[in-house]
Amino acid sequence: MQENGRRRRKLGVMGGTFDPIHHGHLVAASEVANRFDLDEVIFVPTGEPWQKSGKAVSPAEDRYLMTVIATASNPRFSVSRADIDRGKDTYTVDTLREMQYANPDAQLFFITGADALANILTWHDWAELFDLAKFVGVSRPGYELNTDHLEEHLRDLPADAVTMIEIPALAISSSECRRRAAENRPVWYLVPDGVVQYISKRHLYVPEDRKVGL
Ligand code: ATP
Ligand code: MG
Repeated sequence: MQENGRRRRKLGVMGGTFDPIHHGHLVAASEVANRFDLDEVIFVPTGEPWQKSGKAVSPAEDRYLMTVIATASNPRFSVSRADIDRGKDTYTVDTLREMQYANPDAQLFFITGADALANILTWHDWAELFDLAKFVGVSRPGYELNTDHLEEHLRDLPADAVTMIEIPALAISSSECRRRAAENRPVWYLVPDGVVQYISKRHLYVPEDRKVGL
């Protein structure tokens, strides 16, 4: 992809609640970066996660800081406050519009797990999404890597609008990490060490009745 004789920058965008960020997220970003030769991957923690409304989500600042801690050592990873600072429901289309506005020359690649991709047609303004970015769906244990139900909707899109790739399987989820922390079970090695320490320092995921005296 050449523009003005220069190679167009390739930017990965990984949206998520990141409550907490875990090694599944990091492996997905790293694998896609390698396969698509991305210059950078921007992690974008959600503001108010509408798809999870009704469920308790940790404060945006805690999720943001954990994401910074987890990605700090990788020179190609960065974190954006765009969704948090927008201060309303997070829609992927807004995230991508903002990333495109901030990086007008870049080709965007939106990285998502198989479960999130399966929901793609429930997303707001999904048709515009494909104008803004290429989508990369990564395998995730417990979820079928299956685009059959998308075929009919995606028929008119270029073949590379959505690419599915197999990544080394990590059956880690934030829900399981929260459950473990709530039950005083270890999250070591499921999340980066700094995130283990942050969860413990901020008493995240500890049920209210156990917080007394902390
Ligand atoms: P929760 O259990 O709270 O839903 P989660 O582990 O699914 O959390 P999210 O923040 O919801 O984490 O996910 C952000 C993105 O990362 C989504 O696209 C999701 O599909 C993807 N993802 C999460 N965990 C994995 C994993 N283990 N392997 C591959 N992709 C993953
Ligand atoms: Mg999820």
